[in-house]
Amino acid sequence: MISQKAPKKLLFLSTPVGALGSGIGGGVELTLQNAAKALMAKGHSVEIVAPEGSVTSVAKLTAIAGTLQTSAQTQVGADAVVLPKDSVLENMWSYAREVQDQFDLLFNFAYDWLPLYLTPFLNTPVAHWISMSSLSPVMDEMVSKLVQIRPQAIAVNTRACADTFRAGDRLMIMGKGIDINDYQFVAKPSSPKLAWVGRISPEKGLEDAAKTAQKTGLPLHIFGLIQDYHYWSEIQTTFADAQLHYEGFLSTHDLQYKLGQCSALLMTPRWIEAFGNAAIEAFACGVPVISYRSGGLTEIVRDRHTGFLVDMGNVSGLISSVDQLDQIDRRACRQQVEAEYSLEVWGDRLEKWFDQLIVHSPRNKP
Ligand code: UDP
Repeated sequence: MISQKAPKKLLFLSTPVGALGSGIGGGVELTLQNAAKALMAKGHSVEIVAPEGSVTSVAKLTAIAGTLQTSAQTQVGADAVVLPKDSVLENMWSYAREVQDQFDLLFNFAYDWLPLYLTPFLNTPVAHWISMSSLSPVMDEMVSKLVQIRPQAIAVNTRACADTFRAGDRLMIMGKGIDINDYQFVAKPSSPKLAWVGRISPEKGLEDAAKTAQKTGLPLHIFGLIQDYHYWSEIQTTFADAQLHYEGFLSTHDLQYKLGQCSALLMTPRWIEAFGNAAIEAFACGVPVISYRSGGLTEIVRDRHTGFLVDMGNVSGLISSVDQLDQIDRRACRQQVEAEYSLEVWGDRLEKWFDQLIVHSPRNKP
């Protein structure tokens, strides 16, 4: 039987929608790398399996070839599972099956049916990180089935995300952590400007931030991967008179440097945001967050203390929040991250979760 105290060998399986480091995976890319950092700091070893073209400096990387998976957010309401020919997801899990006996636990970051389905067929316990809210009946049903036979196998970031699933009360709520040392606190931005961070895709609602920039006359600095070019060009046309500055998809180091110079981060999702990494990254730089009351963001932003919460679609609420930004103490934003989202505390939580899964795994029963 494996001792709970012994360092564990962990195999992380990244999202199959894009190479790690490309930005296509959204927040899950940073989450995976931070989880690796947090657990390696506690003496565990981590190997990352990710699609070909991936880049990371955090841990040993095994790149797997194959056709990328379509993002789940484009399959809202799907009642079928789609796997392309020569699927990278399939290839990553074939690799996991081959090497599983060398590891104490597999940690899945794919928001996909297949890894959930495969879990009881593998000898090694699998922990699943579900990074988005419930989007389709087919996934929701598989989540319910797996937690019946493997209680505690699935975790989400926030209560709000869990509540979107039928089996929500059986999901682990794990929160998140970031490496605060990667983010420099900026007490006062050099000039008033707004930021927007995320994948440029309709569910992220960039148009409402653009409208806020137009109405307030403030520049809006936009950071992130353009996933939907048609959507982006429509925004540029509609808000041609707004000061929109597209900064590209930046490394965490460059992103935090520019984000810290902004007066506020606007988070305007048009879906139930499972968490919203960008919010805690902004806080770490001392930047208040003006956000829609959506999913996990309602658990992150403290209204009138570290930012403002506004009903989804209420652009005049965003505008009046911008006018009240001087009420927010930027130090409170940084302090909230230090108190609630440290890598160390998150690492403790992940470690305890893994210990439970390993101890209760059929493989390790005496
Ligand atoms: N991001 C980045 N560089 C950029 C813009 C965004 O690395 O220029 C990252 C950001 O650090 C965050 C992620 O993109 O981790 C966006 O994640 P979030 O949870 O906010 O939204 P998601 O894309 O997962 O819906």
